[in-house]
Amino acid sequence: MKYRNNIGALLITGTLIISCASNPYAPTNRVHKKQAKALSKELKVLPPPSPGTTAKYNYAEDWVGTTNFSLRRPNLVVIHHTAQNSVDQTLKTFTLPRTQVSSHYVIGRNGEVYHMLNDLYRAWHAGNGQWGSNTDINSASIGIELDNNGFEEFSPLQMASLLNLLEDLKTKYKIPAANFIGHSDIAPTRKNDPNRTFPWKLLALKGFGLWYDEPIDIIGEPVEGSSTAVGIEPSEFGSVSNDSTPSPNSISQNPELLDVSPRVALKIIGYDVTDLPAAIKAFKLHFIQTEVDTTLTDYDLKVLNNLYKKYL
Ligand SMILES: [Zn+2]
Repeated sequence: MKYRNNIGALLITGTLIISCASNPYAPTNRVHKKQAKALSKELKVLPPPSPGTTAKYNYAEDWVGTTNFSLRRPNLVVIHHTAQNSVDQTLKTFTLPRTQVSSHYVIGRNGEVYHMLNDLYRAWHAGNGQWGSNTDINSASIGIELDNNGFEEFSPLQMASLLNLLEDLKTKYKIPAANFIGHSDIAPTRKNDPNRTFPWKLLALKGFGLWYDEPIDIIGEPVEGSSTAVGIEPSEFGSVSNDSTPSPNSISQNPELLDVSPRVALKIIGYDVTDLPAAIKAFKLHFIQTEVDTTLTDYDLKVLNNLYKKYL
């Protein structure tokens, strides 16, 4: 019996050695495990660290820990494209400490899923950004990177894996449909991912993200010739510095198309409207897609009017 156990141990050890040797990320996996272990120590610290020692709080003499708790859970999903040429390139980027970027999941063009980080840890995928009043997106969210060079369409295999993953995440963490968003949504001045070919409408139909009621009954064009925009003063465009700077005339003049100003509607949806043209562009990248610019046509206003009410 003992002999057989030894053989078993040898086989297991041999398998481990072979699998470690064949995984080029074995060294960074060891770093990962070390960091996870260090963080688990933080979780073991009992509050307050030193009862009665601070001047600010009058801690009770006896510490009483509640018996009713669990780990915090993510409540947002942020979808990205990698803007890189291969999964290998992205895996390398996410395992180099100097890049300071990561995500929980990477999905290849072939549908292969890399789960790089336990969902309960904080990945560094969002950077500076805001959604609604939430300004720490990394703490609240799960990041999913889709292998994509930034311009190409997303493959059917990749989308199939994504939809399965979203289903699991939504069920496991009870994430509301409105909380499935893109990187460009939370960082409109900096980001444009996922690109305009991303099928947000399909996702919304499956319960990941919201969509407006179609068909919208007009096909609008920018209205020329007037200097007064709907709810927007020309000065509000002052912060735009790129070539796509719109004239104030590029906002539709039909006030009856939108019950509130575009700024208010976009803010209700969740956009940071500090830079309004950037917020408009991010909205169009997500919800219009046929054109992605800082112009709000009659059609766009109708979409916005229908959409913002779904976020109330
Ligand atoms: Zn991104």
